Amino acid sequence: MPITRPALGEEEALAAAQVVRSGWLAMGAKVAELEGALRAALGAREVVAVSSGTAGLHLALHVLGLGPGDEVLVPSLSFVASANAVLHAGATPVFVDVEPRSFNLDPRDLAHALTPRTRAILVVHQLGLPAELDAILAFAARAGLAVIEDAACALGARYRGRPVGGPGGGRLAVFSFHPRKLVTTGEGGAIATEDAALAERLRLLRAQGLAIPAGARHAATGEPLEEEVPEVGWNYRLTDLQAAVGLPQLRRLDELLARRRALARRYDAALASLPGILPPLEPEGCEHAYQSYMVLLEGDRSRRELMVRLLERGIATRRAVTAIHELAAHRVRARRALPESERIARRGLMLPLFPGLSEAEQDEVIAALVEATGSR
Ligand SMILES: *Cc1c(COP(=O)(O)O)cnc(C)c1O
Repeated sequence: MPITRPALGEEEALAAAQVVRSGWLAMGAKVAELEGALRAALGAREVVAVSSGTAGLHLALHVLGLGPGDEVLVPSLSFVASANAVLHAGATPVFVDVEPRSFNLDPRDLAHALTPRTRAILVVHQLGLPAELDAILAFAARAGLAVIEDAACALGARYRGRPVGGPGGGRLAVFSFHPRKLVTTGEGGAIATEDAALAERLRLLRAQGLAIPAGARHAATGEPLEEEVPEVGWNYRLTDLQAAVGLPQLRRLDELLARRRALARRYDAALASLPGILPPLEPEGCEHAYQSYMVLLEGDRSRRELMVRLLERGIATRRAVTAIHELAAHRVRARRALPESERIARRGLMLPLFPGLSEAEQDEVIAALVEATGSR
């Protein structure tokens, strides 16, 4: 039993085949269609598709003018890409601790990391659970900081009834379409914003700064179009082949979310009676997308031993998200201990959860946990 399995079927296979037959594989009509579907799902004014979540984070930081000399507050407990993107933009990630039970950025720790160079907060919606945006946005407003949302895992999540990444959040929100996420295009990502001027620059920067998209050049009749390159960009384009695979999943997003949430409730109920295994929280006002279901092991229970016991029964699990400030590539910038991030990185364990997981399979995971913890 894998830790996850993408929700792909005949519809996605057919969509990919149709793009191949069309002869247009690179960014074009399908990417535009995916952007439109995401705008509708989020209620967002603008969506710009990109080649990955990491590329999206890099562009989001860049269009806000963040660069050398600027510090960006980032929760240490996250996928390493959150901090890498800050460095790609030329800025410096400054790590902040997380809350012990939601695993999300602790708004009370922001003040401890503030310096005269702080310019922005990169808030991560951990494993699909919305962070405390109200408190974070209020802090940012007081301190004059921009807020960017790393919503890589949070497509479909809701904060106080509103979709994460839609209006009411940070200046920009970034999603990922990696196969570990809710909707996948193989590799891919998207940036959502209410700011049309930022979106226009993002479109330019994802395509080498070329003001005329390939589709427009292709469609031009009569006079050949004049090329213009107003600024230096990257090749961060999504392809039509990828977008076509994402579209059917996006149409099923509500169904995919409901299935993940139902499976999470079943784990919650079963784990409540298991000693030493704490199920994840869903705080008031937050609707979890359950990109991952991560439990915390209490006391001296060995995570490694538990992982081995489950693997012996054919069940894959994963260690927690990393504490980035402890990784070799980022240690050099660590300024202080972040006890909660460090503890959760050591004690967190992810269990299989994906829409195609049957209840019988989930019961096998639960039975294996019961046996391994000797609680029955
Ligand atoms: C997956 C992920 C990313 C990176 O997304 P890619 O599409 O793999 O580049 C960034 N941040 C978080 C929190 C993620 O989980």
